[in-house]
Amino acid sequence: MRWSKMNFDFTEEQNMLKRSVRKLSTEVLEPAIQKQERDIPFSKNFSLRMLKELQPYGFLDNTIAEENGGSGLDPLTYALMYEEIPIDLKSLVGISSSFTKGIANNGTESQKERFLPGLLSGDKIGCSAITEPNVGSNAAMLKTSAYLDGDEWVVNGTKTFISNGQIADYVNVVVQFDSSKKGKGLGTLIIEKEESPFQVKPLQTLGFKNGHLAELYFDNVRVPKENLLNPEGTGLKSTLIGFQTYRCFVATHANSLAQKALDYSLEYVKEREQFGRPIGSFQLVQEMLADMKTDVDASKLITYRALDMLSKGRRCPVESSMAKQFATEMAVRVTSKAIQIHGAYGLTTEFPLEGLFRNARMLTIPDGTTQIQKMIMGRELTGLRAFD
Ligand SMILES: Cc1cc2nc3c(=O)[nH]c(=O)nc-3n(C[C@H](O)[C@H](O)[C@H](O)COP(=O)(O)OP(=O)(O)OC[C@H]3O[C@@H](n4cnc5c(N)ncnc54)[C@H](O)[C@@H]3O)c2cc1C
Repeated sequence: MRWSKMNFDFTEEQNMLKRSVRKLSTEVLEPAIQKQERDIPFSKNFSLRMLKELQPYGFLDNTIAEENGGSGLDPLTYALMYEEIPIDLKSLVGISSSFTKGIANNGTESQKERFLPGLLSGDKIGCSAITEPNVGSNAAMLKTSAYLDGDEWVVNGTKTFISNGQIADYVNVVVQFDSSKKGKGLGTLIIEKEESPFQVKPLQTLGFKNGHLAELYFDNVRVPKENLLNPEGTGLKSTLIGFQTYRCFVATHANSLAQKALDYSLEYVKEREQFGRPIGSFQLVQEMLADMKTDVDASKLITYRALDMLSKGRRCPVESSMAKQFATEMAVRVTSKAIQIHGAYGLTTEFPLEGLFRNARMLTIPDGTTQIQKMIMGRELTGLRAFD
């Protein structure tokens, strides 16, 4: 025992935080969500109400370092809390709080004074706009342009598939300042919707209705000069630097979806009877459950390891990409098996399984597709790059 180092238990404080967030979810957040219309994106007012409920638990400032005014919680502990919030709120909270963290870490004093109070109180929502209609995986080729005209930046271009895009007050937009420099010409600007209006088109997708995905159109949008967040040459780096963390949180989101599908299945197999017996007594149904449980546990362990490395300040490109690609593909497998276990009922909107499956199917694409994650792993393992 003296040499044992691995520890699969959470600390007492972590368990306590998890319990308190679970209580908030079951007593306040989930009942409120159940009163909303299914598959219709939450209104902005409702989204803000949910942020206000989560705010006292530190969900809006937890990951910001203490020296930047946050509570400096480590990523693993934050992820354990994040697991407990309802699936429909994960994107809203995750995306807006990482926007906030970007300002707290990289913003000027005046940007912090202007933007942080509303974000930290849950009165404002942020999002991050990288993807364009013709540029997805290859972020170095982004085209949305910005040039200085007097005291203002003039922004032109289109961003697409932007989470929180339908309801965000602030957007961190990756722009190209000098296209001859490709990736080295990129930087980011904060665009405030009220101050610098732009057009927003909601996008209809398979799942993830409360991701509020949108296309944003910038047509000669004028933005104050002082809204520059990451100057020319730092845009790509500032975007890529956060990816190890984002990937762990997408993995956590996927693990929660899969865990829910497994929980529903375990209940159902004991209630549903065929051939005069609960279907859970059939060996082939038990095999599906055993495969689902193995998948979910393996995925959680891989994800916790990456989060633990992040918490210790260690670089984890292989581990975070492994977590992201394994967890999101796993969630598709597990939610699909959960539908199989529920038979035809699993396909109906009376049951939650088809919704979990549709949401899971969305997660293999953002923050680097499964293929991109595997190529990052391949590059780290071999030292050979598949692309520039
Ligand atoms: C739910 C969701 C939320 C999102 N949220 C945001 C957001 O908040 N902000 C934002 O900016 N964007 C967001 N996106 C967009 C997302 O980041 C992009 O969809 C993603 O980067 C992939 O780009 P793409 O869809 O254009 O696919 P493409 O890059 O066109 O890829 C298409 C296919 O080709 C494969 N492929 C591409 N390049 C290679 C290669 N070199 N080798 C092998 N295969 C390759 C891909 O794996 C994929 O299968 C979101 C997307 C989704 C689905």
